[in-house]
Amino acid sequence: MNPVFMTILLFLSMSMFIGTLADRFWLMRAGENQNMNDRPWERFKSLMIIGFGQQRLLYKRWAGLMHATIFFGFLVIFTRTATLVGRGFSPDFHLPLLGGNLGLVYALFKDTFAVLVLLAIMYAIWRRLVVKPSRLHLSLEALFVLVWIAALMVTDFLADAAMFTLQPDHAEKGWAWVSTLTVGVFEGQSEAVVTAWWQGMFWIHVVLLLAFLNFLPFGKHFHVITALPAVYLRRLTPSGALEKMDFEGREVFGVGRLEDFSWRRFLDMYTCTECGRCDEMCPANLTDKPLKPRSIIVDERDQAYGMAEHLIAVGKLKAQGKMAEAAAAVEAMTRPALIGEVNDEEAIWACTTCGWCVDACPVMIDHIPNIIDQRRHLVMMEAKVPAVLQGALKGLENNSNPWNVSAAGREDWIGELDVPRMRDKGQADYLLFVGCAGSFDSRNSDVLRALCTLLNTAGVDYAVLGTEELCCGDPARRVGHEYLFQMQAPANITTFQKYKVGKVLTACPHCFNMIANEYPDFGLQDVEVIHHGQLLAELIAAGRLKLKGGEALAVTYHDSCYLGRHNNIYDAPREILGAIDGIEQREMPRNRREGFCCGAGGGRMFMEEDLGTRINHNRIDEAASTGAAEVCTACPFCLTMLGDAIKETDRGETMRARDIAEVMLDNLA
Ligand code: SF4
Ligand code: SF4
Repeated sequence: MNPVFMTILLFLSMSMFIGTLADRFWLMRAGENQNMNDRPWERFKSLMIIGFGQQRLLYKRWAGLMHATIFFGFLVIFTRTATLVGRGFSPDFHLPLLGGNLGLVYALFKDTFAVLVLLAIMYAIWRRLVVKPSRLHLSLEALFVLVWIAALMVTDFLADAAMFTLQPDHAEKGWAWVSTLTVGVFEGQSEAVVTAWWQGMFWIHVVLLLAFLNFLPFGKHFHVITALPAVYLRRLTPSGALEKMDFEGREVFGVGRLEDFSWRRFLDMYTCTECGRCDEMCPANLTDKPLKPRSIIVDERDQAYGMAEHLIAVGKLKAQGKMAEAAAAVEAMTRPALIGEVNDEEAIWACTTCGWCVDACPVMIDHIPNIIDQRRHLVMMEAKVPAVLQGALKGLENNSNPWNVSAAGREDWIGELDVPRMRDKGQADYLLFVGCAGSFDSRNSDVLRALCTLLNTAGVDYAVLGTEELCCGDPARRVGHEYLFQMQAPANITTFQKYKVGKVLTACPHCFNMIANEYPDFGLQDVEVIHHGQLLAELIAAGRLKLKGGEALAVTYHDSCYLGRHNNIYDAPREILGAIDGIEQREMPRNRREGFCCGAGGGRMFMEEDLGTRINHNRIDEAASTGAAEVCTACPFCLTMLGDAIKETDRGETMRARDIAEVMLDNLA
């Protein structure tokens, strides 16, 4: 073809591309350090399953298939483009291994994929222009990119078709079947015209590809480059676990400016595809709060790009170890406030940490730590706490419970019931961690009494800490008061260790998540944590608790976010209901992984919900739509929220909310 032109083209396009990537790299370095190099084998598996296997995209069948086709097609076609670039220097160039028969098979494969990609692109355009799913914003950039990719396919077909017309004995003719079928387009044309077509299509294809590469880092399609690294560098801890904050040597707590984020959050910003999956089932978004998880990421990215020059300079200073200069540069930079101007402060408080966004995001973007870090800044740096939350925090500080009931009353719920205390027994198979709701909220104390009656009936060896128990720390940590949380968690761990606790039983998914997933960062090791739904299901299976049938009752089970999505426990509570004759289980449309939040997580239990509509009303409407007379749950917060929603929507005569332990006790043989 034309080696000189190809050299100039490659030099210009690749130096621009590498320059842009270098800028993005330095911008990312403006963030704080975070080690994401641990457990390489697990990371590699994620890369294969979630990245190359497109696991999270294929969850939505047709849209996922469409994306996977474009993704794989792109990989196949990229190999072709590399070959074409080589042919710019030497007409017979081929990539290693693709010179002989394998090259012919590749030609067949490549044309087949190119057709599939074209079909997927047509489907994508049709979805965007005709179906218009609510989660997708109509974006000219997306349409432009789809047409761009289609043009890559078409120019390749036409270049090959022209080449086959000029060289009828070409080895790939027949294998590259679409181009072979397209040869007819050039029938009757002079050699000069066909040659012009061949060269024209060839150069247009190469230029389009190199231009595409340079376009990618400037918009949401940067994910084409960053998605696989983002999957590899994902957080490997459970989705419900927050990261331990180190107070030593820190002057800034939480995130009040972009530079306070770790570099990994910048990779999130680069990688967001704006697909809107996170918004689709976000309880805050669906009930008209100002929070949209997609907007959090996209607005932060817009600010990062808007102040790219500054961030790149800070990144370079940090990389050189010039921390004082970097800090001075950060201080000197004026910009819109991250909390309040880029992100709505109400949005930061609206999150229930339900985990939907994190679980739904195909490129492993971590919205919850992003939001909680901003709460940490508000609470610990600016002492900005919603007024209504102040009482709960005071209660946690003074009495280690958000209801601010005297800590001395932590055992009052027990009454006359036979509930062993650890201080009397010294040791037990299970430590029953009662939690603040079970201890101080009368409705939830009923659940704990039902649970203890079941444990006593089954002869389970357990004990409670009573007044030695402190709040697990979930409310303080979720609202951003990491300092308070770090006072509570170690104290509980010390008590666990004093009694050589091997198994912790919780009746609260928030306590469960905290003890199982977050206490290990504070020294709790080799302790099995089990939720009461799991233990009760085991006791039924082992024949230690026998259930009798009751009257016919339609029940719908509500998945708690911290039991289901964050900890993958979906079956045990349903098995309990399934073991009771007379109970007919009816699933709500949004169930299991797609279960809709009750509205209480993330400390929202202790805040007013005065924006938009109420999340618990949304959920109870859905529960009522199943025709069930009872909504059953396995979480004290869900029980409170759903019980309140039943009253507030005047369904008290036709519906009730109960915990699985209460349902079981009612049906004990
Ligand atoms: S965790 Fe839940 S409430 Fe918070 S942003 Fe994500 S989906 Fe919305
Ligand atoms: S954060 Fe994830 S799920 Fe949300 S729009 Fe971006 S890529 Fe999609």
